[in-house]
Amino acid sequence: MKKLFVLSIFALACGAMFAQQPQGQRPQQQPQDVRNDKIGVGMTPTMSEYWSPQPKVVTPGNQATASAPSDAIILFDGTQKSLNDNWVTKNMRTQEVNPAKWTVKDGVMTVNKDMRNGGGDIQTKQEFGSFQLHLEWCVPEMDAKFTSQIRGNSGVYLQNMYEVQILDCYNNETYVNGMTGSLYKQTPPLVNAMRKPGEWQYYDIIYNAPVFNADGTYKVRPYVTVIHNGVVLQNHTEILGTTEYIGFPQVKAHGDGPILLQCHGDPSPSISFRNIWIRKM
Ligand code: MG
Repeated sequence: MKKLFVLSIFALACGAMFAQQPQGQRPQQQPQDVRNDKIGVGMTPTMSEYWSPQPKVVTPGNQATASAPSDAIILFDGTQKSLNDNWVTKNMRTQEVNPAKWTVKDGVMTVNKDMRNGGGDIQTKQEFGSFQLHLEWCVPEMDAKFTSQIRGNSGVYLQNMYEVQILDCYNNETYVNGMTGSLYKQTPPLVNAMRKPGEWQYYDIIYNAPVFNADGTYKVRPYVTVIHNGVVLQNHTEILGTTEYIGFPQVKAHGDGPILLQCHGDPSPSISFRNIWIRKM
């Protein structure tokens, strides 16, 4: 009942936001596939998007590259060895695990979108509960034809369940609950603190893992704080459930889980990562 109630509130909130949404042209996106399982019967992706109000733009201050604190677990230090030691790809259908085959060059690793050559999402070998995570990412400069969600899309999945979106949102409008720093399809960022494409961006994410009741409902909900380039985008935001592309958040009981970095299947040039470390809390 509690889950139904939460989902009903979420649906009502989305409905209210749709009602305020001004009419206008939206950028073309992927084909509108319809989901027909119980998560979102008859729904299309756009049914859980809302586009206004757009968060105000804040120009971030200048920050030096952060080195890791002494008690951090280094997840990527710029070397091939640290990619090999800490990351794998996992086929979610077959559960087969293979070495991560993203490209490492000049101290950064770049998403490999070539699925026939080991591409795809990568995830940490280690699993985590609550944590503080630091990572740096860079969207390359690219053609203006790549817009909305098809422009530097990636993401950080907390415990492999909840996506904090990564996207080039510098002069690139999209649905606000899909912007950089959004809790995907749930909570928009408080502001837009994007640097230009080609410049490095910083995420500091503080995550409180959930606790579950025996029946699989949340006893203590998960919460997330996201700081982007030194600017708070999510302030101890309550996570409602999984971050679904189509449909509403689902509450699924889970334990510790890996950090997953998304390889998004869009045709825009791949983004890069560097300097990734985590502290258990
Ligand atoms: Mg994404």
